[in-house]
Amino acid sequence: MTTTNRIPFLDLVAPHTELKEELFAVFESALKTGAFIGGPMVEGFERDFAGFCESRHCIGVGSGTDALRFALIAAGIAPGEIVITVPNTFIATAEAITQTGARPAFVDIDERTYNMDPERLREYLEVQCRIDDRGRPVERKTGIRVAAIVPVHLYGQMCDMDPILELAGLYNLTVIEDACQAHGAEYFSAKENRWRMAGSMGRAAAFSFYPGKNLGACGEAGAVTTDDAGLAQRVRMLRDHGQARKYYHHVEGYNGRLDAIQAGILRVKLGHLDDWNASRREVAERYRDLFAEQETAGLAPYEPDWAKSVYHLYVARVPDRERAIQHLTEAHIGTGIHYPVPLHLQKAYEYLGYKAGDFPVSEMVSPEILSLPMFPQLTGEQQERVVEAMVSFMAPEKTGALVGQMAHVAAAQ
Ligand SMILES: *Cc1c(COP(=O)(O)O)cnc(C)c1O
Repeated sequence: MTTTNRIPFLDLVAPHTELKEELFAVFESALKTGAFIGGPMVEGFERDFAGFCESRHCIGVGSGTDALRFALIAAGIAPGEIVITVPNTFIATAEAITQTGARPAFVDIDERTYNMDPERLREYLEVQCRIDDRGRPVERKTGIRVAAIVPVHLYGQMCDMDPILELAGLYNLTVIEDACQAHGAEYFSAKENRWRMAGSMGRAAAFSFYPGKNLGACGEAGAVTTDDAGLAQRVRMLRDHGQARKYYHHVEGYNGRLDAIQAGILRVKLGHLDDWNASRREVAERYRDLFAEQETAGLAPYEPDWAKSVYHLYVARVPDRERAIQHLTEAHIGTGIHYPVPLHLQKAYEYLGYKAGDFPVSEMVSPEILSLPMFPQLTGEQQERVVEAMVSFMAPEKTGALVGQMAHVAAAQ
């Protein structure tokens, strides 16, 4: 087998090669005008992305982490308050909370969706909190007021937002969506009887355009979406040193702007996002069918009726993950782990005082989750090889079961 037959975990070259002319034109136009920061490219992308998310405002910022931090600050989350999120996420979710001066409190995830379990959220608010005289929950253990919830739409699938929003309403909590992995994901709100876009359901939402995300820049970038004009204005100031206008600083802010070149690139790529997301869904369906044919249907991730996942990641669960990775590596198949250590067990968060056993679902899945190759250009033959490798690992007696289907692949090698 030659290296040309390697199946990467993610392909960042093919989509940019296809769009080379359009992307070069963005760079040329920026060089010609010298508009590197702000300007029409940024405004144009912000307009388009707000439209895509069915949100009134979009504010381009330097990264997804900036977006989360600015959204929390602009929503009025103050130092010394608690923000609830999950342990099964990328550390940036919690970093944005602590960098706001707030303190993260975790609630466990649902075993099937890997996202925030609304029942664990309810339990936290009902059992671990009391209500102060202004109707807001206060954590009994620390005496700290709870101000917000950050549901994370992980792997491209939205959280079960109806019950989360209902609890937020009941307890006067602000909801900031971490939509960094969910560009274009949808949720069917039974309450409203309609599909809603990721980034349109909370008070504000944060998106990342890190290169590997479903919509990725050729560098760092992020955005906040919101329907709240005041919040949008505050994020605009925060990203630009707190300026209301040049050199008039209403607050201290940050250097957190979106580059014009990245905005131009994102605008070109946004035009392809619906197609790419549709391809990811087709890839997911093909994996599901192939696993079902091999009686390993349990390897396919769960997608509830109320979710349209955009499959940022395709996450299976396997016992003995290290051996599975070795097996796939030997078959020249790339994999990833998202994420190996839940946040409450990370060294950085020792000071929060959590211990092993506090979030049993997160702790049960973290040693087993395995992200398989997933990107829009992944071919059916490549997927057959991935499934063959997974099946021969899970059920060695079935090795060769896909041989008929694999014949043309072998011929190509
Ligand atoms: C990527 C990501 C972030 C951070 O985005 P950056 O652009 O890398 O700062 C935050 N939360 C989640 C869930 C992410 O996947």
